[in-house]
Amino acid sequence: MQVPLLDLKAQYQALREPILAAVDETFASGAWIMGPKVKTFEEEVASYVHAKAAIGCASGTDALLLSVRALDPKPGDEVIAPAFTFFATGGATVNAGATPVFVDSQEDSFNVDPAAIERAITPKTRAIIPVHLFGQSADMDPIMAIAKKHNLAVIEDAAQSIGCTYGDRPVGSIGDVGCFSFYPSKNLGGNGDGGIITTNSAEWEDKLRVLRVHGAKKKYLNEVIGFNSRLDAVHAAILSVKLKHLDDWCAARQANAARYDEAFKGVDGIATPPRAIPGNHVFNQYTIRVKRGSRDALQAHLKENGIGCEIYYPYPLHLVPAFGNLGYEKGSLPVCEQQAVEALSIPIFPEMNSDQQGYVVETIKNWVKTQ
Ligand SMILES: *Cc1c(COP(=O)(O)O)cnc(C)c1O
Repeated sequence: MQVPLLDLKAQYQALREPILAAVDETFASGAWIMGPKVKTFEEEVASYVHAKAAIGCASGTDALLLSVRALDPKPGDEVIAPAFTFFATGGATVNAGATPVFVDSQEDSFNVDPAAIERAITPKTRAIIPVHLFGQSADMDPIMAIAKKHNLAVIEDAAQSIGCTYGDRPVGSIGDVGCFSFYPSKNLGGNGDGGIITTNSAEWEDKLRVLRVHGAKKKYLNEVIGFNSRLDAVHAAILSVKLKHLDDWCAARQANAARYDEAFKGVDGIATPPRAIPGNHVFNQYTIRVKRGSRDALQAHLKENGIGCEIYYPYPLHLVPAFGNLGYEKGSLPVCEQQAVEALSIPIFPEMNSDQQGYVVETIKNWVKTQ
């Protein structure tokens, strides 16, 4: 049996007609950059995450880039972010002109440790980027309290977490801004790149709308050096179709997660994803920790048996060569370094059927017995 990590073709087949109709309508309208499709989708997302506004942009990476850029960082200004995240969290910070300061994860989740954030604050700190990793919210109350105390901006990296809540509050509505990605592997995946920034602040909204169009409020009278970073109308139109299905997809992911949790109960050596943070976990990934035997050997075994799986993430950002100039040493962030050794994400996509899931469970259990 083959079980991919994600089956984008199955999702497309289910929605082929409304997607093609949305594409045709957008193309026929001639409004391909900005225009009504983008405006409508921005309003839908703002309402979905309980934010006042949403600003479409070219990708989740650009959502972070524009947000950090909106702070107008001076050379040496620092932005605190978890090391255990996708590269863009750190890369966009540097491209926006700031210096990332990487901190460790919580012991009992894959998310950033608020105490580690507080310890990393210096007079140069401008912002915190909590990442809601794998579909689970970061621990936002202590993070917001730290930000308030030290007068720091909070840029939520919610790229993996549309639909996720912290308690009953949707992520993306808690910090100053929320950055979302529509990369195809995200819970709301587009048919190409795309991103959006949500905010409750008119001041942030204003800055971001200007930054995404070359820094010009009035055309050709550019106020600041901005970017060309827009969400294409055709992608906005397709995403509007898909957004209506997002809650169902999240529910299917959660049902799959509950079945895995049950199946791995008492399986010595496999730690299921922690649920330390209250709220709606939308399982962009279902990430186990391999506590006995080698994670890499389990990955190889699953691949040999036709099961898609990935390591998110094999290298925490403080140990990635691109950030070598920041001077971190191996062993400096021990919790996430251990997570990087043990983590393995297995199929959780909404269309996975029970035969496929049963096969994944059996294949893992059989491997565990040999360890
Ligand atoms: C996917 C992702 C991004 C970047 O999104 P793109 O749309 O691919 O640019 C940023 N941060 C995290 C945590 C992500 O998972």
